[in-house]
Amino acid sequence: MISKTNLNKEVDKIFLAFSKLKLWIELLPRDTWNKNLRTMLPSFAWQELREDTLVLAKGRCSICKQKSNTLDAHEVWGINDLNNTQGLLNIIAVCKDCHNVIHFGHTVATSANSRCEEIKNHFTNVNKCSEKIFDAHLYYTMALWEDRNNYKWKIDWGKYTELVNNYKETGESNNA
Ligand SMILES: [Zn+2]
Ligand SMILES: [Zn+2]
Repeated sequence: MISKTNLNKEVDKIFLAFSKLKLWIELLPRDTWNKNLRTMLPSFAWQELREDTLVLAKGRCSICKQKSNTLDAHEVWGINDLNNTQGLLNIIAVCKDCHNVIHFGHTVATSANSRCEEIKNHFTNVNKCSEKIFDAHLYYTMALWEDRNNYKWKIDWGKYTELVNNYKETGESNNA
C-alpha cells in the first residue's frame, strides 16, 4: 500500500506539473456558455477584434508558437472561485490544435477518437509532460467544472467593458 507521505509527495508532484503547464484545458461553467464577446457584440465588431488579434500574431500560435494559416481568436478568461466571477483577460491567436485542447469538452463531444488522441499528444508535446499528467489534469479540471456548475457566475468584461456596454446601450448586441 502507498504510504501517506508518498501519496502526498505524488500529489505535490502533480500540482507542480500543473503549475508549469503552458497549455491547459479550460472548462467554463455551464452558466456562462452563451456569454462571450462573440455573442455580446454585433458580428462586425467581433470580426474587427478577431482580425486585430490575428494580425498581431503574424501567423504564429501564441501558445505553442507553431506557424498556422488557420489561427483562431480565443477569449482568455480568469476564473475567480472566491467570488464566482469569470473575468475576460485577453483575446489571443491560437492554432486549431491548442484551441482543441483548451475546449477539450467540446472537442470530445464533436470529434472522432483519433482526433482526441492527436489533441492529447499535442498537450503532452507542448507541455513536455507525460500522459499521466494529461489524465490527472483532465480529471482535476472535470471535477472543478462539476463544482463550478453549482453556482451562478458573474461576468467581468475587464478592458472590454466599455465596448460591451456601448453596444448594449445601442441595442446592437447580438444578445439583445
Ligand atoms: Zn498552438
Ligand atoms: Zn476559444
